Amino acid sequence: CGIVGYIGPKAASPILLEGLRKLEYRGYDSAGIATLLDDSVHCVRAKGKLNNLQEKLEQEDNPAAIGIGHTRWATHGKPEEHNAHPHRDTEGRIAVVQNGIIENYRDLRESLKAKGCKFLSETDTETIPHLISEHLKALKAAGTAATLPSLLMDAVRLAVNELEGAFAIAVISADFPDEVIVARQQAPLVLGVGKGEFYCASDTPALVPYTTTILSLDNSEMARMTTAGIELFTFEGHKVRKSPQTLNWNP
Ligand code: GLU
Repeated sequence: CGIVGYIGPKAASPILLEGLRKLEYRGYDSAGIATLLDDSVHCVRAKGKLNNLQEKLEQEDNPAAIGIGHTRWATHGKPEEHNAHPHRDTEGRIAVVQNGIIENYRDLRESLKAKGCKFLSETDTETIPHLISEHLKALKAAGTAATLPSLLMDAVRLAVNELEGAFAIAVISADFPDEVIVARQQAPLVLGVGKGEFYCASDTPALVPYTTTILSLDNSEMARMTTAGIELFTFEGHKVRKSPQTLNWNP
């Protein structure tokens, strides 16, 4: 239901939580964030109110400067912690948050299971990290050089082309610790441009405390955010050139 993401010099976790608070008005049944810490994906999730997530986050001192977060409105799978986003691939190296519905998730789930992927939730979303992981393995095995700015972005591009339905996603990977990849199809996603720091969110209220310089993704567009900037491509792999807009925001 709500997506946030951050990459920059600051600790991500408080920024992500604050962003999720700004999206609370949209309703949700559980929440979670994933950051990249000590060469791995660190995931914290909680059923119910954001305060439950906050209590868990307060137990830790997390300096990670990259992460994604989500408030979930369950469509597939009960509102339980194991169904809360972010979801991960079998190795736990990739984390994904998603808004919307993946219509062909049953078929994807069956074929991914046949390939050995281990599913830990009943969500449609969990097919996505597995799918990205399978594409990444295949690209690596083939020794293919990246055609987009990173092999992770290539793998995400191949994955989103297999998804049917409406979705906005944000992806991080412990094997690509300096980038957040986002993509959208029939579900909103906006990027926030700061100085050496970049944000994504499903709606602008989550961005305006940090920046009013905004880039909106259109359908079938994806982006890679690093501390150096944002690169935009279509799902077909063509570069997109867009200038950010400045929001007139009266708080
Ligand atoms: N379909 C996904 C789920 O049920 C995402 C729902 C949402 O947009 O929050 O987990």
